[in-house]
Amino acid sequence: MKAMKVLVIEDNPINMKLVRSLLEIGGYQCLEAGEAATGIQLARQHKPELILMDLQLPGMDGLTATRQIKEDPDLQGIPVLALTAHAMRGDDSKALAAGCSAYIRKPIDTRRFLKTIAPFLRRGSSNAHPVVPSGKVFRPRILVVDDMPVNVKILAAKLPAAQFDVLKAYGGEEAIEVVRRESPDLILLDYMMPEVDGYEVTKVLKSDADTRDIPIVIITALDGTEEKISVLEAGAEDFLNKPVNTVELLARVNSLLLMKQYKEQLSLRRESAGLSVWREGEDALPNVADDFPTILIVEDGERDARLLESCLHGMPVRVLQANSGQEALLYAKRRQVDLVVLDILLPDIDGFEICRQIKADSRTEDIQIVMVTCLRDLDNRIKGIEMGVDDYLIKPVQSRELLARIKTLLKKKFYLNRLQLHLEAAMTTAILDGLTGLYNHNYLQRFLELELKKSARHRYPVGFLLVDIDDFKACNDSFGHLTGDQILKEVSLVLQGALRDTDLASRYGGEEFAVVLPYCDKQNAQRVAERVREQIAAHPFSEKIDEFQGGLTVSIGVAAYPEDAATPQDLIRRADRMLYAAKKDGKNRVCLHPCEPVQS
Ligand code: GH3
Ligand code: MG
Ligand code: MG
Ligand code: MG
Repeated sequence: MKAMKVLVIEDNPINMKLVRSLLEIGGYQCLEAGEAATGIQLARQHKPELILMDLQLPGMDGLTATRQIKEDPDLQGIPVLALTAHAMRGDDSKALAAGCSAYIRKPIDTRRFLKTIAPFLRRGSSNAHPVVPSGKVFRPRILVVDDMPVNVKILAAKLPAAQFDVLKAYGGEEAIEVVRRESPDLILLDYMMPEVDGYEVTKVLKSDADTRDIPIVIITALDGTEEKISVLEAGAEDFLNKPVNTVELLARVNSLLLMKQYKEQLSLRRESAGLSVWREGEDALPNVADDFPTILIVEDGERDARLLESCLHGMPVRVLQANSGQEALLYAKRRQVDLVVLDILLPDIDGFEICRQIKADSRTEDIQIVMVTCLRDLDNRIKGIEMGVDDYLIKPVQSRELLARIKTLLKKKFYLNRLQLHLEAAMTTAILDGLTGLYNHNYLQRFLELELKKSARHRYPVGFLLVDIDDFKACNDSFGHLTGDQILKEVSLVLQGALRDTDLASRYGGEEFAVVLPYCDKQNAQRVAERVREQIAAHPFSEKIDEFQGGLTVSIGVAAYPEDAATPQDLIRRADRMLYAAKKDGKNRVCLHPCEPVQS
């Protein structure tokens, strides 16, 4: 399947690097231009599916460029998203006026980026590349289990067909069978069933590694606390009382599905970064004193507030109290709050508005919100669900229910945090070399693989350089490892300075660097290599280094695709041979032809 192309026109290399990394994580192919004219040229050449346009660019600015694109019959169909700076007031509306479909604020929010661009990349054609790594447009499948067909029907009708696919089973045994065969994303499970009941089904599914990650919501007509405890102990994630309230049902289903996705993505990321696979037990709530999650109770009635607090007594959580909307928002924004238990009726701002504000702010939107309400309000105020309430509790609040709800939501928040941390870690450690900040070896390998595929398709050449510091061992031996590290950093800077924005410099190994030069044939690669060599030789390192054996130099092996090699491995091998020849030939030189006289 063909990766979707996103053209990024951005002059700031740090932003470019960030966007590039994010696009690659999302499985997109990233085309890059440091200024508008080159960008438009690339757009003509490659017809990308989306253009990300920095507004402030050297030469032609982003607004003018966008207007040009929108006037060009060949290009006007491509959506353009503006990258606008927070500080530049008015940029947003100017961008829209110029023809941008939307804008993304800088600094770029790494957590939201892929989600933001996804809708603009959904084209009708069937060769669309998946936006989510799971590889399909995601419509969760929900299994509804009840021995009474009419109940199955009622429950299924509450799940919007546009959002979910519904599977059905009419007994415990059948349910287990369907789960094993279909592996649904969530199960709504009746408790009271003849023969195999909900408790039994839960026990079976939760003891099987293949099925235990599927969330189960028990549907029960029983008010008895004992049954509820027993199903939670058997491993069900949650329960709902009959008759099932639609709002409550959807809130719970969405919340559990999100949790499942976070968990899956986390495993996936860890796996693709070569980390250990997710293990059971790591998902336990953090249990160290420093890590206690913070719960904010927002309730103006003193008695109710005390009641809620007493429910939480003994749980490993920190509890904050607020008795007005203002205070609640203040806490949410200023303190590290993980979860809010929120009353709807408050003296100043109502609960829905608080919820809206918390969920509208990217700094607080991950805070989990349980709204406490009476049934009548819940039915009247269905809009609550669109405001991002994560779950509901119906008054009078029962301690068990509150605890179950809180436990689930904290778990969800915990996965979300982990996933975000991981993404951030991937942004730095898994992709970049710790010492020099250049891309690391692994990343280079993956990149080169993709780059050559891309260039084969679009028939453009790719240059490749292997750069090795001359006599670095002697340098290290004379001045020590720390000085050696400092030199490596400086060489990296000079190297980056000598390259274009679209070139990729990486630390290939100890004192060796690899450079990928897209759109660059062998002659041009040679020119770049000469420039790098000259700049390193001319660079003023510290005095002692400059005086040491005539100053620091590098040798460079050059190869190009497709001229010299057909695969990434061959390309690297070829450059390595040329590097070897350059060393043999006396160092501080560039070598690109095997026939060059090799002296010993
Ligand atoms: P040549 O001109 O043939 O490349 O000789 P050389 O001494 O540069 O090459 P050699 O491969 O013999 O030695 C490479 C040295 O680079 C050995 C090692 O101490 C040093 N080195 C590798 N990685 C690092 C690093 O991360 N920091 C420091 N300070 N030195 C490193
Ligand atoms: Mg700029
Ligand atoms: Mg070496
Ligand atoms: Mg060396």
